[in-house]
Amino acid sequence: MDLYNLHHIKALLGRYNFNFTKSLGQNFILSREVCSKMAKDIDETYGVIEIGPGIGSLTSVLATKAKKVISIEIDTSLKPILQETLSDFDNVEIIFDDVLKTDIKKIIDENFKGLKVAVIANLPYYITTDILMFFIEKNFPIEKIIVLVQKEAGVRLTAKLGEKSAGAISGAINYYTVPKFEFVVQASLFYPIPKVDSAVISFDIKQNVDYNISDKDLFFNIIKSAYLYRRKTAINSISRGCNISKEKIIETFESLDLSPNLRAENLSFEQFAHISNKLHIIQENIH
Ligand code: SAM
Repeated sequence: MDLYNLHHIKALLGRYNFNFTKSLGQNFILSREVCSKMAKDIDETYGVIEIGPGIGSLTSVLATKAKKVISIEIDTSLKPILQETLSDFDNVEIIFDDVLKTDIKKIIDENFKGLKVAVIANLPYYITTDILMFFIEKNFPIEKIIVLVQKEAGVRLTAKLGEKSAGAISGAINYYTVPKFEFVVQASLFYPIPKVDSAVISFDIKQNVDYNISDKDLFFNIIKSAYLYRRKTAINSISRGCNISKEKIIETFESLDLSPNLRAENLSFEQFAHISNKLHIIQENIH
């Protein structure tokens, strides 16, 4: 069966009386080429975790390349469909659960011994950021994440601090990973067709985070605060968000030769790190 042919897909879904659940972000990919490009670096040395296999279009490409694929799908009504479409593969296992509630560490330990681990998925758009942060912040032994997301989210999620499209989560993303915007995928390559285009983005997980940041929580808090009130000066927003007196932040900016008029989007990763380290020292001296 051709899982990328709309007529075949409609016939398949019809045979199983499948109804789309809009709230689960179910837009199935119609392009084998996109799936192959997402899996281009995967070979027998990899175990892959996939989120939301849908009818198995990306899953089957992953299964031809990786040693083993574990896919996590929340919608149990896809079970008989996946049993049919993936019947040729003995290296795929489907877990029916909410990905955010699964024990990823256990899945990796039990299935991927001696393998590199990649997370590859066409993500449900309603929960893109939550899923990404779940995989990025939890310190799982993962090498890379390659995901298909809405284009606008892709731009935001791969922005560097100091760029206009960066946001509150750019701190954690740039701390733990090297993000990359790979390529745009037209909306017409999905069924049903979504309102906006999508994009493939990737994150190489840094195996050693070697930044000299003395208080990681303070560092992330400063970035979050700066972006929360992004129209205000960074001095004002950091003071407000972190509950630190304005005088101390002005003193910090002066000592680093930073203009008091800078806003979040003008500050680079390194500058945030310097602000955070300086404020940490000032705070420590007070206590
Ligand atoms: N991989 C398929 C493809 O590319 O055609 C389907 C992708 S579709 C955008 C997203 C999939 O994620 C759907 O199958 C949906 O049911 C599933 N999903 C939604 N929320 C989920 C969750 N919290 N945990 C696991 N799967 C989820």
